[in-house]
Amino acid sequence: MAGEKYVYDFSEGHRDLKDLLGGKGANLAEMTRLGLPVPAGFTVTTSACQAYLSTGRNPDGLDAEIDGHLAALEAAMGRRLGDPEDPLLVSVRSGAAFSMPGMMETVLNVGLTDASVVGLAAQAGGDDRFAWDSYRRLIQMFGKTVCDVPGEDFSDALEEAKKAKGATDDLHLDAADLRALVDRYKHIFAKHTGYEFPQDPREQMRLAMEAVFRSWNAERAVLYRRQERIPADLGTAVNVVAMVFGNLGADSGTGVAFTRDPASGAQGIYGDYLANAQGEDVVAGIRNTMPLEDLQGLDPRSYEELLGIMAKLEGHYRDLCDIEFTIERGKLWMLQTRVGKRTAAAAFRIAAQLVNEGMINLDEALRRVSGAQLAQLMFPRFDLSGDPVALTRGIGASPGAASGKAVFSAERAAELAGAGEDVILVRRETNPEDLAGMIAARGILTARGGKTSHAAVVARGMGRTCVCGADQLEIAADRFTVDGCTVNEGEVISIDGTTGRVYVGAVPVRPSEVVQYFEGDEVDSTLVEAVHTIMSHADATRRLAVRTNADTGDDAARARRFGAEGIGLCRTEHMFLGDRKELVERLILAVSESARNDALAALLPLQRADFVDLFRAMDGLPVTVRLIDPPLHEFLPSLEELAVNVAVARERGEEHSEDERLLDAVRRMHEQNPMLGLRGVRLGLVIPGLFAMQVRAITEAAVQLAGEGLNPRPEIMVPLVGAVQELEMVRQECEQIVAEVVAGSGVQVLIGTMIEVPRAALTAGQIAEAADFFSFGTNDLTQMGWGFSRDDVEGAFFWRYLELGIFGISPFESIDRDGVGRLIRIAAEEGRAVRPDLKLGVCGEHGGDPESVHFFHEVGLDYVSCSPFRVPVARLEAGRAAITGGDSDSR
Ligand code: PEP
Ligand code: MG
Repeated sequence: MAGEKYVYDFSEGHRDLKDLLGGKGANLAEMTRLGLPVPAGFTVTTSACQAYLSTGRNPDGLDAEIDGHLAALEAAMGRRLGDPEDPLLVSVRSGAAFSMPGMMETVLNVGLTDASVVGLAAQAGGDDRFAWDSYRRLIQMFGKTVCDVPGEDFSDALEEAKKAKGATDDLHLDAADLRALVDRYKHIFAKHTGYEFPQDPREQMRLAMEAVFRSWNAERAVLYRRQERIPADLGTAVNVVAMVFGNLGADSGTGVAFTRDPASGAQGIYGDYLANAQGEDVVAGIRNTMPLEDLQGLDPRSYEELLGIMAKLEGHYRDLCDIEFTIERGKLWMLQTRVGKRTAAAAFRIAAQLVNEGMINLDEALRRVSGAQLAQLMFPRFDLSGDPVALTRGIGASPGAASGKAVFSAERAAELAGAGEDVILVRRETNPEDLAGMIAARGILTARGGKTSHAAVVARGMGRTCVCGADQLEIAADRFTVDGCTVNEGEVISIDGTTGRVYVGAVPVRPSEVVQYFEGDEVDSTLVEAVHTIMSHADATRRLAVRTNADTGDDAARARRFGAEGIGLCRTEHMFLGDRKELVERLILAVSESARNDALAALLPLQRADFVDLFRAMDGLPVTVRLIDPPLHEFLPSLEELAVNVAVARERGEEHSEDERLLDAVRRMHEQNPMLGLRGVRLGLVIPGLFAMQVRAITEAAVQLAGEGLNPRPEIMVPLVGAVQELEMVRQECEQIVAEVVAGSGVQVLIGTMIEVPRAALTAGQIAEAADFFSFGTNDLTQMGWGFSRDDVEGAFFWRYLELGIFGISPFESIDRDGVGRLIRIAAEEGRAVRPDLKLGVCGEHGGDPESVHFFHEVGLDYVSCSPFRVPVARLEAGRAAITGGDSDSR
């Protein structure tokens, strides 16, 4: 852009210019404005970098601007860049808007040449060793960073020099050794580049700056950005800073400091110091650092000054600051500060401390923590201090840490768990029949399936640790094998539901005190106090209600303790498992009306008892019960198994009429795409009496509890509706039964629908005519919106899509705002246009995803519903959404 300003002196910028000056540049400018001792310098903007990266050359005017700022810098320092008599040296440092630690480049000591190295020695009071050491560092960094000379060639040469001298430490090399090393380095440089090491200081600076620009697109930086979801087009700023030296002797040094402990959040001064060293030595860990407090003995004046600056910075930024500093011959210089990264526990503690200290208000405290951090604090974790090596890795589907004996069937899991053993259920994939084993197990490991596979959804619902899609596992009846390593039934394994790692043997586990607190236990800890303070504020602030997805009284009761304000989804098909599966099978396969009615009559009292439990646990709160929505294959006997049984029986000339009859029926009902088949409302319309039985069970349960003086609030929800006609038919049938059963009881019943088929979203205006509420089923809406099978694609090829950047995160995990989100927006707007009091919620997995909660706040939903363990996370994020207006970024 013509006339754009590309270069800012440190005295011109400030901390709010991060996008333009990068974090480092903006904060150096801020410290300069605060009057802190910052070496003079200037920043070339990210926009100059963007221009360079798109055209391959500096934008017009940039070089002249740099010349002007360099001249000002030289005037301020009273030295010229690379002057042979009295050289100014500079560092050229990257600094993007988001911190990308160690991802991009820095070149120190720019301006040193064969001539100015002599001037530097004179400046340092005749310290030749220091000057030659600085020169060899420049050639090494410049060679590696700017000209791609292999770093090992330099480090090998340094090792050889030390060996020749019999030295263990580079401090033992004297000026002559280092001078010889410089010759050697120059030789290496010329050999790789085909030209001599540049002797023009301004040329060195130009090349170093361009290399920093280019490092934005270095492979590791690209990978890091992808992982951290940092946009690819921001570019980095470049800071040119007058060099100060921490390696000028015992009265010099360099260090890092934190104004509070970034690991625990504890108040105090934390950091490391390294005497007679440059910053890169601390990072490279070539010598052992000393605790920062020891600086007090070495250099009390600098130490006191540093403490004063740290207090000032913390007061100014109102947050934990992380600082880099150098002491040059007893003079303290600040080289960097930023709001420091911290652990999840530290984030909560520090936010609450700062509120108590009157530095920030509760809104700000809420902004500074995130649901992802809270989730981390809610799961038991492995103690990894013993550095265990993972055997393999799958998808971390339900967080937590679990160890136990590997078992390969639900029956065995229940049996061993019943005998008091901890077990991990290992299955190729799970299905509803495995439920008892999943409940009994400490954790679940599967070879197939993604984050919305049966195993994942059920495990999350129960708060069970789960790793799924570990596709290297070859699973047999009583063992699994990975890469030639076999784990037999009964051998202990450990699984990490956050990272997806699988270990052989037991890794020690620590329980979560935050969960103990949510469960209502008395827990005396500063962390729990902090969580309590911030959660209370989130609850007071949020507009979205938070409900839970629960199918049992126990889950509902736990979710209520975790703060759920009702049930947003009870999946009734989950109630048809175990002993009842046979009844459901009879129902689905019934050929006569009387057989069907018998099956329904047997199910009615069982269902009624289920709902009594739920309504009791959620007394006074709304309970959305979804009419049955089973993909049929989950409820029918296996076609293959039956076919084999029949064939074997025939072979043996045995009676096989029952199996044969079943086989015929299953063949009749067999579907190629069960997820798109006879499910949800379709099943209700095809099998007479099924929905009616459920509606009767729901309303009878409610009337029973109302009779006990409780306040049941049932909401009946119809799944998989795509056309208003479907809903109208079911509604009519429901209303008749409701009217008959609840008459005179005072029980109020709402009838609504899921919006989970794209057609439903697009015809929401029509559907709203027949619905008291909508609940978005974002699992199916994502599946059908993208055409992605929710059971298969995550494990199959999402890694490639993520790698290609088609999306930054699975759309099954975090709502796809542009596509699926648009369907939700349309449905919400068009539904409310017809029926302004239409209640809107979401009950797909996204209801508990932090980023998605912000989206649901933004589109005006009334509530989100999620698994019990995610209820606190959703409460927190709903509070954050209310104060940040939809921006979930906590970086
Ligand atoms: C959904 O599709 O988002 C939903 C909640 O229903 P289910 O996961 O049971 O299909
Ligand atoms: Mg669904």
